[in-house]
Amino acid sequence: MTHKMQVAQVEQFGQSLVLKELDIPTPGPGQILVKTEACGVCHTDLHARDGDWPLKPALPFTPGHEGIGIVVALGEGVTAVKQGDRVGVPWLYSACGHCEFCLAAKETVCAEAQFGGYTKNGGFAEYIIADPNYVAHIPAGLSAVDAAPLICAGITTYKGIKETQAKPGEWIVISGIGGLGHLGVQYAKALGLHVCAVDIDDGKLDHAKRLGADAVVNAKHGDPIAAVVKATGGGAHGVLITAPSLPAFKQGVGMTRKWGTCVLVGIPPGEFPMPLFDVVANCITVRGSFVGTRRDMAEALAFAAEGKVKADIELQPLSAINTVFERLARGEVPSRVVIDFSNR
Ligand code: NAD
Ligand code: ZN
Ligand code: ZN
Repeated sequence: MTHKMQVAQVEQFGQSLVLKELDIPTPGPGQILVKTEACGVCHTDLHARDGDWPLKPALPFTPGHEGIGIVVALGEGVTAVKQGDRVGVPWLYSACGHCEFCLAAKETVCAEAQFGGYTKNGGFAEYIIADPNYVAHIPAGLSAVDAAPLICAGITTYKGIKETQAKPGEWIVISGIGGLGHLGVQYAKALGLHVCAVDIDDGKLDHAKRLGADAVVNAKHGDPIAAVVKATGGGAHGVLITAPSLPAFKQGVGMTRKWGTCVLVGIPPGEFPMPLFDVVANCITVRGSFVGTRRDMAEALAFAAEGKVKADIELQPLSAINTVFERLARGEVPSRVVIDFSNR
């Protein structure tokens, strides 16, 4: 066995990732070593590369928080997983386990949380060090490449849809039909909702229709709020905004039905104006949602294991990572690119 691994790292914000060879890390006490089989490329990896957010990762770092692989070594004292298990190393890399939020199964907002591919090195590498208490357990029958998008895009949209509290038979808007949104449409249909898909790209909207969307609205043309209000008979009971674009947020609030809930998951840097009178007089809830808990992870993966949700993936080698990033930034990735480590 060679002792080096191929990785792609951000060395400077706003610059291309640098492909290099590093020593394969050794798992310390309570850690595991995962040999990467696949890792999805999320729009968050672009925000990370560009240093878009107030909390910035220390340079250099290895992005990637949809890494799936096989446990190949256990540090001292590890009992939660065993060698040979297939696991995912998600955005919620670890949390403290004892604060008020961890105790309430709201561990995604733990102040001590670490983030995979951000504050900890992630999956754009042939090996990943992980915390066995926070890895995703990949159900038998789900391949690594198929599982990858589920451990961020899947869990985030599944949880976000639950947070809208829209009920079967009611309407949900999924705004942004990219990596997150194309899974969101499928989870929403599986949960019995009527889906109105919103994007600025007709190709993405055609895709949403193929995935079962009941109505589609191109936000580039005309008045997208009026179009959604018409299609849904008064606005959607739930709205999930995945678009990494500020105009989509004010529009999403406007698309929300009276007493409905607009859930924000896209994180373009910046702020958006909120029309106070409309939000107050229509009793609208606007709420953020951040990935999902370990319980949400198991549920989100179960939908895929049962064949109700399937990511549309394009496989690429790690060496193509910078081209993939450029395409993602231009909106040219159809759904999700997954880095396939069996192809170098
Ligand atoms: P993506 O690039 O794959 O998809 C984005 C989609 O939004 C594209 O289809 C694009 O055409 C569409 N879009 C762009 N502008 C739009 C507009 N004005 N109206 C409607 N649609 C528009 O990105 P992704 O990987 O799905 O990630 C989306 C966002 O979600 C990113 O900001 C990412 O950081 C964030 N994210 C948040 C969480 C969380 O926990 N809250 C988790 C994962 C990703
Ligand atoms: Zn992500
Ligand atoms: Zn905690």
